[in-house]
Amino acid sequence: MEDAVVTKDLSGYRVVAVHAHPDDEAISTGGALADLARRGAEVTVITCTLGEQGEVIGEPYQHLVADHADQLGGFRLGELRASLAILGVAGHHLGAPGMFRDSGMVGDPAQEHPRAFVNSGARAVEVLVELLQELQPHLLITYGPDGGYGHPDHIRAHQITHEAAAQLSVPRVLWAVTDTDDLNAGLAAITTVPAGWTRGDIASVGTSDLAITLDDFSYHAKRASMQVHATQVWIADGTVSPTNPVAAFGSGDGVVWALSNLIAQPLLRREHYQFGAGQPLPEGATGLLDGLTRG
Ligand SMILES: [Zn+2]
Repeated sequence: MEDAVVTKDLSGYRVVAVHAHPDDEAISTGGALADLARRGAEVTVITCTLGEQGEVIGEPYQHLVADHADQLGGFRLGELRASLAILGVAGHHLGAPGMFRDSGMVGDPAQEHPRAFVNSGARAVEVLVELLQELQPHLLITYGPDGGYGHPDHIRAHQITHEAAAQLSVPRVLWAVTDTDDLNAGLAAITTVPAGWTRGDIASVGTSDLAITLDDFSYHAKRASMQVHATQVWIADGTVSPTNPVAAFGSGDGVVWALSNLIAQPLLRREHYQFGAGQPLPEGATGLLDGLTRG
């Protein structure tokens, strides 16, 4: 199924999303990025780490994880490339692929690794500034100060993005967030949780502070870009892949999916953004670039 064809009304605009790990571009911002690209904006994703500390969904590639072969980062590079191709956007790694390493969740000893992204210091800001000087974005997208759900790499991505944006006077910075009301409505609409999955808490931000809600984005591109991150994302629509040959079935008023924690989540048909820095969105804005001057 295809998303509707749209006009190239955003040519001349440049957008950069700074993400911590492969899969974040799809999960947090896939709809907006695909939509901006389809409408002609030049969209680039900068990924800060390779997600080396992740867990793996599906039996075939279990031994890639950090405690065994430590090859997950390289594998996820392939998933990232497939995702970016589906979204129709360009991709860069912060500095170079593998320059900074996934720091793991709070308390993970991986944070002591010398290349851990949490230890990236001024070097990470420098390489981001260099990249952004080339890319000249009108809009930068990242997470809020809590990284969306507290992951140290997401918090670090937020920090370096704001430091670089301030140095370069990037016209606007927005934060991709999950809206509590929308999430709760989606969770309530899940009628069947796949076998072995659970219902549980998912981080969200509340509803008072939203700058903009996008509800007409490239939903099918977003879903497909999430699906190719098969070591990280399991969509309960009965599909299988070489990475995860086990089908899950969930039902509700939409698509049910999970990360490796197997907590059922709704694939929301809306994305939400908060204002971060620079020029605020004008009253009644319907697009992330509204009010910014092209060029
Ligand atoms: Zn992440």
